[in-house]
Amino acid sequence: MHMMKNLPEKFTRGRKTRPVWIGSVKVGGRSPVSVQSMTKTKTEDVAATVKQINELAELGCQIIRIAIPRLSAAQALGVIKKQVRLPIETDIHFNPKLALESIAQGADAIRLNPGNIADPEAIKEIVKQAKKRKIPIRVGLNSGSVTGYINKNKKFKSKAKKWPVWQTMVECALEYCRFLESLKFKDIMVSLKASDVQSTVNAYRLIAQKTDYPLHLGVTAAGPLMDSVVKSSIGIGSLLLDGIGDTIRVSITGPPHDEVRLGYWILEALGLARRGPEIIACPTCARCEVDIIKITEEIKGVLRNPHSEFRDLNLKVAIMGCVVNGPGEATEADIGIAAGQGFAWLFKKGKKIRKIPEAKIVSELLKEIKRI
Ligand code: SF4
Repeated sequence: MHMMKNLPEKFTRGRKTRPVWIGSVKVGGRSPVSVQSMTKTKTEDVAATVKQINELAELGCQIIRIAIPRLSAAQALGVIKKQVRLPIETDIHFNPKLALESIAQGADAIRLNPGNIADPEAIKEIVKQAKKRKIPIRVGLNSGSVTGYINKNKKFKSKAKKWPVWQTMVECALEYCRFLESLKFKDIMVSLKASDVQSTVNAYRLIAQKTDYPLHLGVTAAGPLMDSVVKSSIGIGSLLLDGIGDTIRVSITGPPHDEVRLGYWILEALGLARRGPEIIACPTCARCEVDIIKITEEIKGVLRNPHSEFRDLNLKVAIMGCVVNGPGEATEADIGIAAGQGFAWLFKKGKKIRKIPEAKIVSELLKEIKRI
C-alpha cells in the first residue's frame, strides 16, 4: 500500500474522469491508477477470506472485490470488514437482494452486471441505498453476459445484431448509466471486459470518447499466469498507454496474489507506479562470461523484497552481461555493471567507477546502492 503514497507527478496522468471514492481510495480524476483483485475463498469462510484479503493488502492491493453468490455471503461481509483495512467492492449477479444486503453490511462499492440485474424497480432500490451510504456503483459488463441485457431491452435487439460485441457492450453500458443518471445517481464506474484482447481494447476506447466515468480495466477470463501476462499486459497496457483507465484488475486462473503482482508489473512497465528500484537486465547470450541470471535474481531478491530498505528507492539499476550494450545501459542508469570475463565494471551516475571480481558483484553493487 505505502508505495502509492506521495507518488511523483509523472505517475498521475491520463484523461480526467469524474472521480468516485471506494472507501479511502479515490478512483478517477487523474488519481494514480489503483490495483485491485478478487478473493477466491468461499466468502462465508470468514477466516480464510480475511487472511487472503490481508495477504493481498500486504502485496499492495488497494481495493478488494468479493463475490456474493448467496445471502449468507452478504451476511458474512460485516464480520469480514471489521478485520481488514482494504475497501471492499461486492460482486453482484442475478439477485438484487444480495446488493441490498451487502450495502447494509458496509460494502464500499457495488458491482452490478447489467446482463443479469436489469429490473428497473430493483435498480431503483439499490441506487436509493447506495446514495444513502454514499457508495459508488460499477456498471460491470462482460462479453459473456451482455446478451442478457439485450434480451430484456427491445431497443437493442435488432441493432445489436449488426454490432460487434464490443460496441454492444458500450451501448448497453451507456444505456444503463443513463438509467442511473435518471435516478440522479452519478457515482458510477464502468467496466467492459471481453475475453479477447482486441474487443476489450475497442470497447474501452469507444466508451472513453463517450463518457467521463472512471473506467475499471481488465481482460476477463484471461487464463493461467503466462496467458494472462500476455493478454492483460497487451489489453490493459494498450489502454493505459492511451491514457485510458483508472483502476485495474488482472484476471488469472491462479492465486490472486499473482493478479496483484502482475497489476503492478504492468503499471511499472508503463512508468505509472514504482515498487522499489527498476532493474534493467540483459537476457544474456554467448558473449556473457559471468552468471548474469543468478546475479539478477539475487539483486532482485534484495531490492524487491517488500521489507527491504531499498523498497522505496526510485533508482534504475542496470545488470548487463558484456561490453556490447553494457556500458551504455549502465551509464544511463543510476548505477550498474557491465560484465567482462570473471569481473564487472561498476558504473555510477554515468561514470565508470571500478572493476569488481565476479564473486563480489552482488555485495559490491548493494553496498554502492546503499551509499546512494
Ligand atoms: S549485453 Fe552482452 S551478454 Fe547481454 S545479451 Fe547483450 S550482447 Fe549478450
